[in-house]
Amino acid sequence: RDSPSLLMKMSRIKITVIPGDGIGPSIIESAIQILTHAGCDFEYEYADAGLVALEKHGELLPQATLDLIEKNKVSLKGPLTTPVGGGFTSINVSLRKKFNLYANVRPVISFKGTKSRYENIDIITVRENTEGMYSGAGQKRSDDNKSAEAMSIITRDGAERIVKFAFELARQEGRKKVTIIHKANILKSTSGLFLEVAREIAGHYPDIQSEEMIVDAACMNLVMYPERFDVMVTTNLFGDILSDLCAGLVGGLGMAPGANIGDGAAIFEAVHGSAPDIAGKNIANPTSVILASIQMLEYLGMQDKAERIREAVRATIESGDRVTRDLGGSASTSEFTQQLCSKD
Ligand code: NAD
Repeated sequence: RDSPSLLMKMSRIKITVIPGDGIGPSIIESAIQILTHAGCDFEYEYADAGLVALEKHGELLPQATLDLIEKNKVSLKGPLTTPVGGGFTSINVSLRKKFNLYANVRPVISFKGTKSRYENIDIITVRENTEGMYSGAGQKRSDDNKSAEAMSIITRDGAERIVKFAFELARQEGRKKVTIIHKANILKSTSGLFLEVAREIAGHYPDIQSEEMIVDAACMNLVMYPERFDVMVTTNLFGDILSDLCAGLVGGLGMAPGANIGDGAAIFEAVHGSAPDIAGKNIANPTSVILASIQMLEYLGMQDKAERIREAVRATIESGDRVTRDLGGSASTSEFTQQLCSKD
């Protein structure tokens, strides 16, 4: 008889798939086609969130979806539309809080053939995803509407786990350097604590070079010398802004994936939104969510398949034919997907 551990190994990995809103379902379908083509034998379990869930179930984030994310631990998610007004809180922020997805990992890499001023960029931003200015603490407006305040929270534990995460990632991926980005010269208590903890953690990784940079200098250096950066680790707000800056270095949001990782769950997604202006037209570029699937494969330890799909993306974009409009071509989402499969 097979042992239970062998049976577990033999059982298929289950992935929670949240197609999402707007262009979400079509780009997610494209990613799943490519995963299947590359021989990934996952079992996909679908769940609703966003506008589509509001219409079907009367709520943006149904309990059944939360249960499925919790059960399968690994999710692939399309963009979700948060309705404007009506007191709706961002679904993405709710998911991060609910599952304590403290690490937001956003890699950017140059592909020849994309519209960008730079080549040879390969940067991973590791952004703390639950604290800082986004903790939602102490937000209030004065009664006369003349002032507003919000609290930034940095904890020693929160800083420790994200900086450790960044150094471990650097080690795993054979990276050479981690840049700690802060504003401790002005924000002495919050950013100061983050930097203090980051220095302590960096000391435990003698094999990885560490450097410190003030966030404003980091912005300038990223634009002038992006090839000097390798892994960056920073607090929530700085990470949010810097990772979009990095997306701009490699051709924009169409090329930018993101993973939200906690100890008990991980959600992989494109950085861009639901693009309602092009939804239903079969012209969206699925590259970001495909790159997010590559991150998912790496997270699952399937490096060979991840590399295979990355090479197919590279070859397709480099060849320049049958790419989507935003990449300068005229291919539809499905034609682009077929082209990717043919390069794999
Ligand atoms: P957006 O990223 O959806 O679109 C910005 C522009 O980029 C649009 O012109 C769009 O057509 C284009 N674009 C985006 N993705 C594209 C792709 N894959 N291929 C080709 N073109 C693409 O940003 P927005 O319009 O500000 O937001 C729309 C909705 O998405 C909002 O409701 C917002 O809350 C939501 N949103 C969700 C997420 C998420 O779920 N992670 C992230 C950002 C925004």
